[in-house]
Amino acid sequence: MRPTRSALAAVLLALACSDRTAPQSSDGADAAGGVEAARGTAPDGAPNIVLVSLDTLRADHVSAYGYPRQTTPALDALADRGVLFEAAYSHSPKTAVSHMSLFTGLHPDAHGVGQLARSGSRRLPDAIPTLASLLRAHGYRTAGVAEGGNVRGELGFDQGMDLYERSDDAASGFARAAELAESLSAREPRRPFFLFVHTYEAHDPYVPPAPYDALFADPDYDGAIVSSLEELLAISGEKWRSQHRAYWGRVEKSNPVDVQHLRDLYDGAIRRADDALGAFAARLEALGLMDETALVVTSDHGEEFLEHGSFLHEQGFQEHLHVPLVMTFPGERGEATRGRRESVVVRLVDVAPTLLDVAGVPVPAGLDGVSLLPLLEGGSGPPAVVVSRWPQGGLTVLRSRSWKLIQVRRRGGASTQLFDLSRDPEERRNLASERPDMLAALEAELARVSAAAHAFRDGIAEGSAVRLDARAIEELRALGYLQDESAATGEGAAP
Ligand SMILES: [Zn+2]
Repeated sequence: MRPTRSALAAVLLALACSDRTAPQSSDGADAAGGVEAARGTAPDGAPNIVLVSLDTLRADHVSAYGYPRQTTPALDALADRGVLFEAAYSHSPKTAVSHMSLFTGLHPDAHGVGQLARSGSRRLPDAIPTLASLLRAHGYRTAGVAEGGNVRGELGFDQGMDLYERSDDAASGFARAAELAESLSAREPRRPFFLFVHTYEAHDPYVPPAPYDALFADPDYDGAIVSSLEELLAISGEKWRSQHRAYWGRVEKSNPVDVQHLRDLYDGAIRRADDALGAFAARLEALGLMDETALVVTSDHGEEFLEHGSFLHEQGFQEHLHVPLVMTFPGERGEATRGRRESVVVRLVDVAPTLLDVAGVPVPAGLDGVSLLPLLEGGSGPPAVVVSRWPQGGLTVLRSRSWKLIQVRRRGGASTQLFDLSRDPEERRNLASERPDMLAALEAELARVSAAAHAFRDGIAEGSAVRLDARAIEELRALGYLQDESAATGEGAAP
């Protein structure tokens, strides 16, 4: 339940008096005093930090990344103000896996968090710190506003969060985040805050409301694709399984008009998310907070429209893993990086270490990610190795600066693909048999990264089991986010 505006003061007061995970004071101080003492003080001049995830946003549908449509005016404006990373990559085409790498700076095999599944899921082990828990330990107030599903708090996304709330859509989520930013800064102007904001607005089924449904769609389209949530509910009812079947059952894969219509609706949904982001940024500006806030916008994975034979995000090609990443900074760093475009390959695991560095908080040893501040200050960038995994789907991807290895090990069969991205950016020509030398080199690198992840996990107790009650299962279904374990293949399966 989201607290109302009038309940906010009570919630914040409660936060000061009850703390779930921060170390407790042992000197007999009252709870609030003990918690406050254990938090420590934020480093001098530490800015507020806002991390935004626009779920399911492929980079090449963002105007600032060259898309000809005006899908993202707000994100473009932030890119003008800060740094745009042209080659940012996600660690999974799946929401929980990717977001946890974003939160921890660890490869998927190191953090070990998979998609929520009926057969059971595991929470992030308590011993693994998150961006939020590290910032909180250094004096930050921390809060998250997310749309549930595979970013539910139970998986560990609430670790280190004073407050982790559920929102319904981009407009209400960003409005709530703005409200929190205002309250937190008014209450304790000298204590910085960390805010995470997440939305599924661009996720399927693509049924954006007016005017977004018509923004990019052909007004003369008269095909069968469901064009509104009302229509979808009318033909399929409330149950997700039948909604999903109804939506995708009307898509004629061989009809290019239908496929284009899906893209058009996806673009409309992106614009709806971007408008909410724009309103949020405007609110921060009006509150005078943009000048004291580092704002990062990214996505957990992209989306496919038959480029490699399927829809949704079930594979490991560029359209699934190339994501937008834009960072704006306050103060001198902001001035020095204004309007910059950076072409070096960077990874979502680099985001948490970068933000810790921005906050002046020591980056823990053993992370897979590195701070990007040295790169922005003229030094070297992170190693050009991106490992992406979807363990439940049998997918492993390793990309180097210009090569990419995709391994699929599924019940239906196994495949190995190798692409030279410098000559074949659309990944059309599998060179696995022509270039055994390169294949062996990438496989060796993969083995090294995998061994490092397992060594990291040695001695760290498993996270507790995540148990889903009937209500949670129905909620996940409603979001299209709970699939049968056997459905982890091919086009049309649940995202
Ligand atoms: Zn996602």
